Amino acid sequence: MTDPMLPLVVEEIEKRFTLHRLWEIADRDEFLRTVGPRVRGVAAGVLVPVDAALIDALPALEIVAKFGVGYESVDAVHAATRGVVVTNTPDVLTEEVADTALGLLLMTVRRLGAAERFVRRGDWGKAKFPLSPTLRGRTLGILGLGRIGKAIATRAEAFGLEIAYHGRHRQADVAYRYYDSLHAMARDVDILMVVVPGGPETEKLIDAHILKALGPDGVLINIGRGSTVDEAALIAALEARTILAAGLDVFENEPHVPEALIANDDVVLLPHVGSASQHTRDAMGRLVVNNLVSWFSEGRPLTPVPETPFPRG
Ligand code: NDP
Repeated sequence: MTDPMLPLVVEEIEKRFTLHRLWEIADRDEFLRTVGPRVRGVAAGVLVPVDAALIDALPALEIVAKFGVGYESVDAVHAATRGVVVTNTPDVLTEEVADTALGLLLMTVRRLGAAERFVRRGDWGKAKFPLSPTLRGRTLGILGLGRIGKAIATRAEAFGLEIAYHGRHRQADVAYRYYDSLHAMARDVDILMVVVPGGPETEKLIDAHILKALGPDGVLINIGRGSTVDEAALIAALEARTILAAGLDVFENEPHVPEALIANDDVVLLPHVGSASQHTRDAMGRLVVNNLVSWFSEGRPLTPVPETPFPRG
């Protein structure tokens, strides 16, 4: 196990396997030299990358079971060359993350966080809380209409929002308006919801050019990965009022949040809590365990990632 996981994951793994806790090992090189050749599975948390070097230091490795649906911290392409299967935890978190995204959207557009701080400060009755922008008559552009993007779209439709999306492919079974250009979508919509995976392909997709296209009434919500947004460009756009507001659950360098964002009342900040309910984190943990158990008992992973397309159990 690369970094600490939920007690239920640790307990269930310890019942069935010999568990080594990488974060408790003082001399990693020595550990990899002596125990590394016997390691057949890795339970990967969110902090420690499972890169090519770590994979190659484990010659008997068969499976990397990642906690979370995003797995850019695991070199799945390299794992595939070694015949190692990589699994993640899709689906079980989709609805939770979509709920969080809608909460973040409402907080940002209706300034609910600032309104709550106003009450707690004792300002109610002394001053008037300023009128906020609205969701009425707005269009939502979703960057990444995947599992979570679709769950966000369903909710946003119920809120009366018009939906558009951008991804690398048009989706045949989807009636929402498709844009093959992110820039064109940013220009046409009022709210840009980012829910693409992280990694080099999506790095800084949201840059100064896209923010300018979003425009002075535009709102950016990022529930995907911090690496997708050029944070310096976002700070500049907020300060210059190139865009109106931003709601962020994820950041470039977590847990570091730039002072310029903390100081800005047009920004809502969450500590990467998209999937962070007890219910959903437990379900994710169980899926990590079940992937390991299915692999070592039946030779079939439950939820392999596309780079390692093993038959499913
Ligand atoms: P999916 O794989 O189902 O969806 C990803 C979508 O992104 C697809 O529609 C894909 O469409 C699109 N996409 C991928 N690459 C690109 C690209 N380079 N340019 C444009 N679009 C792209 O994933 P999920 O919906 O399950 O999860 C999405 C991401 O959300 C996760 O990878 C994770 O990073 C993040 N997440 C954040 C959480 C949080 O706590 N804040 C919690 C859970 C997930 P197409 O193939 O057509 O391009």
